[in-house]
Amino acid sequence: MNRRFADCHMHTVLCGHAEHSIEEMVAALEASTLVGGVITEHLPLPDEVDSDRVVSMYPGELPSYVGALQILRERSVLGADLVIGAEADWLDTDPAWTADSVAAARGAGVEVVLGSVHMLDGWAFDDPERVQVWDTKDVEEVWEQYFSVWCAAASSGLFDVMSHPDLPKKFGHRPRDPRPYYEQAAKVAGEAGLLCEVSTAGLRRPCAELYPAPAFIAELVRRGVDFTLASDAHSKAEIGHRFADAAAALLAAGVTRQAFPKGDGFIDWLKLE
Ligand SMILES: [Zn+2]
Ligand SMILES: [Zn+2]
Repeated sequence: MNRRFADCHMHTVLCGHAEHSIEEMVAALEASTLVGGVITEHLPLPDEVDSDRVVSMYPGELPSYVGALQILRERSVLGADLVIGAEADWLDTDPAWTADSVAAARGAGVEVVLGSVHMLDGWAFDDPERVQVWDTKDVEEVWEQYFSVWCAAASSGLFDVMSHPDLPKKFGHRPRDPRPYYEQAAKVAGEAGLLCEVSTAGLRRPCAELYPAPAFIAELVRRGVDFTLASDAHSKAEIGHRFADAAAALLAAGVTRQAFPKGDGFIDWLKLE
């Protein structure tokens, strides 16, 4: 089998809102046509943010999460192409908490850390349960706030890859002209030497578009940023979802390789065609 692409963003039941176990996700990845991927469970959040444990793993689960992946990797045909990752929330209200959380994750054996902004001042703006809060907000102001927070996250030095960079468009809330935000973010990502993901999750949401949007991808390319591919799978059926479309968007922007960050700190470059 001629395997291609790596899925660098996948979840398991540990986060409380995905469908399949670590073992089931790894088995599905092995059975797929992908080269490999990064399992990226949501790191624990403070109790006051996720008291019901519906968006993140329990604090005590980190060692067993990493241990399970280490054991699976020893047995897996994927070998080093199964990478132990995690998705970290940048808490704009408490960046020091985020720094401690990422340090704990790396200390426990997490090899690749995604940086995500899902919350602005305590509001999980991408949560379908809290979408009505958008009605009380000015869309321009939310985008402005989001990108200023995103840039702080991107320049924190904590993360390897930035997830779903234009997430505020998820439910279709868009500013009149997003280009200044793209320029601001791309400049910071380029200077920080960060990878950004091209996420097909946006194709499954009301916005019906890749994260980041094609014009945003173009701006990131102009700043020398490289890209991973990400499904943000919350079930095994979503692994590698519509990666041909993500690859086509990158090729259209002149990008001919995907980044696959590995456990040893190096990046494999997979050819896109
Ligand atoms: Zn996310
Ligand atoms: Zn995710």
